Amino acid sequence: MMYTTIQTCRGCGHDTLHEILAFGNMPLVNGLLSEAQLSEPEPKVPLTVVFCPACSLVQIRETVAPEVLFNAEYPYFSSVSDAWVAHCRDNALELIETRRLGPGSHVVEIASNDGYLLKNYAERGIAVLGIDPASGPASVARNRGIPTREEFFCRELAQSLSAEGLRADVIHGNNVLAHVADLTGVVDGIRILLADDGVAVIEAPYVRDLIDHGEFDTVYHEHLCYFSVTAVARLMAKHGLVLTDVRRIPTHGGSLRMYVQRTGRPSAAVEQLLGEERELGVDRVDFYESFAARVRAIQADLRALLGSLKARGHRIAGYAVSAKGTILLNSSGIDGQLLDYVVDLSPHKQGKIMPGVHLRVHDPGKLLQSPVPDYVLLLAWNFKDEIMRQQQEYLNRGGRFIVPIPAPRILEDSTV
Ligand code: ZN
Repeated sequence: MMYTTIQTCRGCGHDTLHEILAFGNMPLVNGLLSEAQLSEPEPKVPLTVVFCPACSLVQIRETVAPEVLFNAEYPYFSSVSDAWVAHCRDNALELIETRRLGPGSHVVEIASNDGYLLKNYAERGIAVLGIDPASGPASVARNRGIPTREEFFCRELAQSLSAEGLRADVIHGNNVLAHVADLTGVVDGIRILLADDGVAVIEAPYVRDLIDHGEFDTVYHEHLCYFSVTAVARLMAKHGLVLTDVRRIPTHGGSLRMYVQRTGRPSAAVEQLLGEERELGVDRVDFYESFAARVRAIQADLRALLGSLKARGHRIAGYAVSAKGTILLNSSGIDGQLLDYVVDLSPHKQGKIMPGVHLRVHDPGKLLQSPVPDYVLLLAWNFKDEIMRQQQEYLNRGGRFIVPIPAPRILEDSTV
């Protein structure tokens, strides 16, 4: 079975979910195709965003089996950028200071990758434990002295660690909550492992930023849930936890950093965001229904823009073979008729073929070869400034960039 479909809410178990946006059959975003695979049937799974009126959690209806989603080719090491490492270090140093952590404290990270976050604690003599099912990164972590359990985090693992006497003063969970099929088990596990005065620090993309900026291309099969402060506060309360503080941060097009404890009161920041969400109607289905109409408009406008450029004889390439790009192109019906090819810096992606739309991936150097494309569509809009800096030579030769969201437009000032 490649995927299952939920009948009840992933957060609260409510049995009536409202459909907000149906993408139809979408390819899996991480699997680039080889030449040989082009002749084989391609896996595609429906992608449907639904809303729970009981707890206001936005989620997708389909759960793709993890062994299908994270196949052997999944680039586990790919997502750790210098900026992200610095972001995690700042977070750790702040917690060490504000929570007065030192020898005798325990810090646990769920999905600890190669230990780049926990190392900030370990270097200061604080006991750490990483939990990550991916053997490659886990062994890198152990080699740098970060003890790592090679498992999925779940209620049972938390129980067994707790039975061994572990009580966490800090639990980190960055970009984990949105990915887990057993949301209830993971939140229970956090409560079980948390010391009485401990804090879980959880980061997840903020559904309000997704809606406000039309970031529909951040919806894909790996992202099962899309959180609001309202939904998280209710989810935590259901598990005997309190959302005591929250911050909006810029990562992934806009995220929340949430502080969750066993006891305590919501901070002014939590109350403020809950108030704003109430005002906006984040807990009502109509807030999301207008989003679906906006997404369809973005998709149609983008097709029309590319179509009119193409009709005038222009050449158009795409930049960055991201998960976002795969959803953007496939859900908007943009294929080889509108784009000539795509480019990506990663040598692992060059020579492969994008799923669904079957566009070929080249080295970005191709943008400078004749015929130089007149336009480049940015498929990783979150790295816009970085990409434009790298492609100064392309801009100097008269090339122009197109950003797809929040509304498709050709960037007028093509120098940075
Ligand atoms: Zn619910």
